[in-house]
Amino acid sequence: MNTTTITTVVISNHGFAEKLLQPESNHHLLVSARAYQPGDIITNFGSSEIHKQPSKYTVQVANDQHIILSPEFLQYINHSCNPNVFFNTSTMELTALQPITPGDEFTFFYPSTEWDMAEPFNCLCGSANCLGVIKGAKNIAPAVLDTYKLTNFIQQKRMQLKD
Ligand SMILES: [Zn+2]
Repeated sequence: MNTTTITTVVISNHGFAEKLLQPESNHHLLVSARAYQPGDIITNFGSSEIHKQPSKYTVQVANDQHIILSPEFLQYINHSCNPNVFFNTSTMELTALQPITPGDEFTFFYPSTEWDMAEPFNCLCGSANCLGVIKGAKNIAPAVLDTYKLTNFIQQKRMQLKD
């Protein structure tokens, strides 16, 4: 973390999480209201819609299945190359990967669920292992991908990649 002060506004409270907005950048984020240890189940989730094509807000569960998360506020969990949560799309549980304390931003590794992303972006997560441009698991070297917790779907796709 750097020491820059960024203004945030609480948009909504969801019990275990708060949705925040950084007005200057119009950037939304979800922060934890509770403490978690690795492996803890933070919440169950489901899908309100299933789309054939990915979008910025969908999570991939199969080749042509991209879900809109329910509860919807989970879509404001941003990407990090050093994530602290994982969307397990087999058990439909959001789990902690690292110790989380109240006020920490929830982040997940988009390529842990996304094979080939609709909207690649330049990652600014600032972690030492930042991968730079994030385009989905398909575009990450298998040896690097293997250092992350991946959904069963992405693991199956990964097995089709050469080492
Ligand atoms: Zn990054």
